[in-house]
Amino acid sequence: MREIIEIPIDDAKPERFDVLKTQGIPFGNDLPEKVKTLLKRAIDLFLEFSQPLGIVSDISIPEFGSVYHGEGLNEKENPLDKIFKKADNLALFAITIGEKVSKKIDQLFKKNEFALGSMLDSVASAGTDKAVDIVENHFLNLLSNKGEITPSKGMLRYSPGYCGWHVSGQKKLFEFSHPEDIGITLLDSFLMKPLKSISGVMVIGEKEIFKFEDSYPFCDQCKTHSCRDRIRALFRESRPDNKKGVV
Ligand code: SF4
Repeated sequence: MREIIEIPIDDAKPERFDVLKTQGIPFGNDLPEKVKTLLKRAIDLFLEFSQPLGIVSDISIPEFGSVYHGEGLNEKENPLDKIFKKADNLALFAITIGEKVSKKIDQLFKKNEFALGSMLDSVASAGTDKAVDIVENHFLNLLSNKGEITPSKGMLRYSPGYCGWHVSGQKKLFEFSHPEDIGITLLDSFLMKPLKSISGVMVIGEKEIFKFEDSYPFCDQCKTHSCRDRIRALFRESRPDNKKGVV
């Protein structure tokens, strides 16, 4: 299965709470009027300039083994290497909200409209995350309709450049799933263009397979240890669609 998913822009509109969190602003009734106005303008620009699209391709464990090996630069020991071999389903994904919104952000900074540019950047990042959630839910629903999802199962996603999966892994990921078809290209640096794009693998399996200790050598440099929250959240929810960001 390989599917291109057109994501309605209103569905990708991020929650105000998620945007303000990335700006380090606490959400509440006492939000200054200036911030409320900026946020509204940024969300309006997001709705005007974003074109969210996703692509999802299921992939077998041996096929993903080859994608994952990539250019041979992964950390020798890392969590995904153990997890994907125990998965029930794997799917490569890529999503983008398009180039126009990045150009608008650049324009605002060039015109010295830093506050609005920065707010739009946060809205676009939160909207990109939300678009991934929509693609994930779409894939989960497909599996659910086939009776392949049970309460003991969970889903987490992983991306090249994180947790021991070297960023050069993007090369093989692109060769397999061709995100070019939704307008994403891979630069020599392995960054994606448009910048507001996310790619990786969705892993579905028994929740137990996702447990690991955050004691890999590279975890010492990790500022967030976000894997802890995500694994905890997986066990709090009965439905495996409770995930946020990448491990
Ligand atoms: S501690 Fe950080 S680097 Fe280590 S696995 Fe968790 S999220 Fe990844």
